Amino acid sequence: MSESSECLFCKIIAGEIPSTKVYEDDTTYAFKDINPKAKVHVLIVPKKHYANAAELASADPEELAHIVSVAQHIADEAFHGAYRLVFNTGLDAGQTVFHVHAHVLTGEKLDE
Ligand code: IMP
Repeated sequence: MSESSECLFCKIIAGEIPSTKVYEDDTTYAFKDINPKAKVHVLIVPKKHYANAAELASADPEELAHIVSVAQHIADEAFHGAYRLVFNTGLDAGQTVFHVHAHVLTGEKLDE
């Protein structure tokens, strides 16, 4: 799926909507979640628009693996490498933005 002009996260990646950047490289962008659910709550997105994790996995598995390594890097810095990685997929699972994003929850001991 190509970049969508209506997509919130495409606009954040393009700098049209402000965000607090945590990490960026050629393919990937990470920024603080506006409504954090942990002491450190970061969203990691591919710069190319894919609706969900399955679509990304089919189209670009290397980018999906890269997102996991970026999550590890963020957690190494924030909380000795411990983190929770969540991809909400589908409305009924709580996905509200249909540009695939990994939630990285870290920075503190998390509830089980
Ligand atoms: P989802 O519910 O898994 O789709 O996650 C979407 C996430 O995007 C939620 O945790 C929101 O708090 C977050 N969010 C929505 N708008 C913004 C924004 O403008 N900046 C940063 N995070 C946002």
